[in-house]
Amino acid sequence: MNIALVAHDEKKEEMVAWVTRHYEFFSQHQLFATGTTGTRIMEKLPISVHCYKSGPYGGDQQIGAAIVEGNIHMLFFFWDPMWAQPHDVDVKALLRLSTYYNIPTACNIATADFLLMGLAHS
Ligand code: PGA
Repeated sequence: MNIALVAHDEKKEEMVAWVTRHYEFFSQHQLFATGTTGTRIMEKLPISVHCYKSGPYGGDQQIGAAIVEGNIHMLFFFWDPMWAQPHDVDVKALLRLSTYYNIPTACNIATADFLLMGLAHS
């Protein structure tokens, strides 16, 4: 599966810790991420992540385009509910596309864990 990972700044630590917790799962899939999120993950783990541009510079839109092309099968998007983002329109666009194209999307740890549990039992 091609899996996309995006985390806003206040959520990056959470994302890296969560991916680390599920390293065995993630090491078996192709990973894609916005620039900084992907870099942080690769700094922590011996894992390859295809990094798009940083989110505010178009990375969210690149992931959205990959969804449209059918190249992303699951999205983990830990967005920050406490801070407005300069690229809020891109954030909304990405969530709109993942919803429209029926891509399993998790925006917090609880849902992300359920998604992986569901996969393990499918
Ligand atoms: P980043 O982008 O991983 O490059 O920080 C995430 C975002 O802000 O959408």
